[in-house]
Amino acid sequence: MQEAYKNIITQKMEGWSTGSVQVDVLRLDLLHPVVSGNKWFKLRFYLQDALIQQKTTIASFGGAYSNHIVATAYACKKAGLCSVGIIRGEAPAVLSHTLLAATSYGLELIFVSREAYRNKAQLQQRLDRPGWYWVGEGGYGIMGAEGAATLLNTTDFSIYTHIICATGTGTMMAGCIKACLPHQQVIGISVLKGHESLQQETEALLTATQRNKNYRFIQQYHFDGYAKHPPELIRFMNQLYMQEQIPTDIVYTGKLFFAVADLIRKDFFCSGSRLLLIHSGGLQGNASLPGGSLIY
Ligand SMILES: *Cc1c(COP(=O)(O)O)cnc(C)c1O
Repeated sequence: MQEAYKNIITQKMEGWSTGSVQVDVLRLDLLHPVVSGNKWFKLRFYLQDALIQQKTTIASFGGAYSNHIVATAYACKKAGLCSVGIIRGEAPAVLSHTLLAATSYGLELIFVSREAYRNKAQLQQRLDRPGWYWVGEGGYGIMGAEGAATLLNTTDFSIYTHIICATGTGTMMAGCIKACLPHQQVIGISVLKGHESLQQETEALLTATQRNKNYRFIQQYHFDGYAKHPPELIRFMNQLYMQEQIPTDIVYTGKLFFAVADLIRKDFFCSGSRLLLIHSGGLQGNASLPGGSLIY
């Protein structure tokens, strides 16, 4: 996969860069059509560790539209590992395009009830097989954060004052905090509603020294909850594509860009700021929208 780093570009957002604030986007969505964005970076050290431990299979958790599940399936196929996805909810009559794609890369699906899904430790104990290597939902964990820290190596990020990303589990943000330099602030835009434990869960992936770095969480741009996508958001995403030719997804990056546009408008960033927005991919999630909703 590392050979695909060359696809990643840092794109200047012409329309958003004013006299006082410069905005660039790290286009991780261009990494690869399937394992796009941050998921490859979060997985890489788990896969490496599984191979070192001579495990045969990666087992992980996710919902029917999970970017993490499809990325796991593809990355495992490339690494010569088998993959198993523990999927939230009963088996549907028709598989989502995400799960269909994942099975096409060899991932085995195990559906569990929503109730059982809540207790992952118990599920792991019940379903575990010899040779299985377990990765947390969304790749959450210290190794995931250490992998995510390497996503910033794909550009010269030293010139920026702010590194801004969407947060689900907080793993990617923890990686950005690990990698960031003393003059930089990392900002996480949460896409979950009422995720009060986000800060604690993110900080659990940091060392004491890293917890003294400069970072903050912004929680009011979730659009009423995970994967909720009101017309206002869709309109914004289409407009963004027209103006800057940047496609975004309804779950993560659409909300990230919306938040940053709003913060710039409200003079949140002081003059001279140079922002690096992490486009973490996730575009496959848009396939769940009715056709024609998006212009790209
Ligand atoms: C999973 C994902 C995120 C969230 O990453 P976390 O490390 O869980 O916070 C952000 N953007 C995209 C596109 C994702 O698929």
